[in-house]
Amino acid sequence: MILCSRGASGLRGVTGVLYSDPVTLTAPPRLLLVHAHPDDETLTTGGTIARYAAHGVHVTVVTCTLGEEGEVIPEGLQGLAVDHADQLGGYRVGELRSACAALGVADHRFLGGMGRWRDSGMVGVDANQHPRAFVVGDPEEQVAALEAVVREVRPQVVVTYGPDGGYGHPDHVRAHEITTEAVRRVGGVDRFFHTVASRSETEAGVRALAEAPGLPFRLPEPGELPTVADELITTAVDVSGHLPAKLSALRAHATQVSVWQDGAGHASYALSNGIAQPVLGHEYYVLADGDPTGVEHDLFGGLFGGRDADPQGPR
Ligand SMILES: [Zn+2]
Repeated sequence: MILCSRGASGLRGVTGVLYSDPVTLTAPPRLLLVHAHPDDETLTTGGTIARYAAHGVHVTVVTCTLGEEGEVIPEGLQGLAVDHADQLGGYRVGELRSACAALGVADHRFLGGMGRWRDSGMVGVDANQHPRAFVVGDPEEQVAALEAVVREVRPQVVVTYGPDGGYGHPDHVRAHEITTEAVRRVGGVDRFFHTVASRSETEAGVRALAEAPGLPFRLPEPGELPTVADELITTAVDVSGHLPAKLSALRAHATQVSVWQDGAGHASYALSNGIAQPVLGHEYYVLADGDPTGVEHDLFGGLFGGRDADPQGPR
């Protein structure tokens, strides 16, 4: 918030008009999300991005790698994979662009520029040692690259994963580490959130899918999907009005995600492991730093002096 206060003589605003009364200029809400690979922005926060972008929030997404090590689902695109042409990263840039367009993201960046750091793969694979692997990269350089974005964008709210990266992927853990440090160094960020999945809502979603005839994916075993206990969750963002955008963005990541809808209200997606995941009406967050007042249903709730950053509310 930029407060223009002045004495009796008044101050000239940028247009040269002499103000006679105090005027409060409010900075537009800005949301920065830091993700490890193309598709993570949609899988974990796609509804949230679509909702805030639709309501005029300036949404910036930073992606740390090109996702070169991903497995490829469509048969006809298998040749892109790392053990064939190794062209998946470049291909996924296009998928990410389409997803960002579906979600309404106007400001997307790759950390350090496109291709600076490479997908490190899952824990223990050879790709962890690649000279450009994100986890091999100098954390100082990575923090500095993100710090520059934070200083430029000046987001009130920043989102990334929790300390375990959500499900333990080394690049997600590194994204958490560098984002935490960049936010600490820059200061001035009002709230820092970790994106998480609600245990109870995920389980309810899986139960609903179990009743859905024709589901082409295998149902997860209890505890197989990464979730957190609901008592840890501080914020549930209603994204039910933005699921068409999220589903479009999921479909854009066709090398990584299969999407299923039955026309009767059921929707699910699966990664290359073929495990059914529910598409839920809320996305969930843990407030890691910042004022919790008003945070229950809105990442920006209460930050604007009582004026809702999301004035149209859920839709
Ligand atoms: Zn990822």
